[in-house]
Amino acid sequence: MVDCVFCKIAKKEIPAHIVFDDKKTMAFLDAKPTSLGHTLVIPKTHAETLDKLNEEDLKSLTVAAQKISKAISKFSEGYNVIQNNKEVAGQIVHHVHFHIVPRKKGDGIYWNRPYPEFSEKQVKEIVEKIKKNV
Ligand code: ZN
Repeated sequence: MVDCVFCKIAKKEIPAHIVFDDKKTMAFLDAKPTSLGHTLVIPKTHAETLDKLNEEDLKSLTVAAQKISKAISKFSEGYNVIQNNKEVAGQIVHHVHFHIVPRKKGDGIYWNRPYPEFSEKQVKEIVEKIKKNV
């Protein structure tokens, strides 16, 4: 992908604070971090969203995400693993990536609060919709 910023980082055409780099994956600090150490983990192969990624690259990506999680857990009190797909879900760069966000007590970071509520009917319908498409 010519215009993909993460492909360019993977090819080292654009600088980034790289913390991990192997044959299939790379991890680097988010340019707009939620907390200090907020790291992005990407496959070197371009895929826009998680559902488009091939299984082999997915395996490498999740193993790399765990490696970064282990590293971050050494100096943080906790961490979030976040993965956004499509603009409506908050995806800004259209190259699949995991966010690993270090957390500490009282850091003031909140995700999607308050929780929305759904009827039993809505829940049953969505369960059937997902099961049908797995
Ligand atoms: Zn890309």
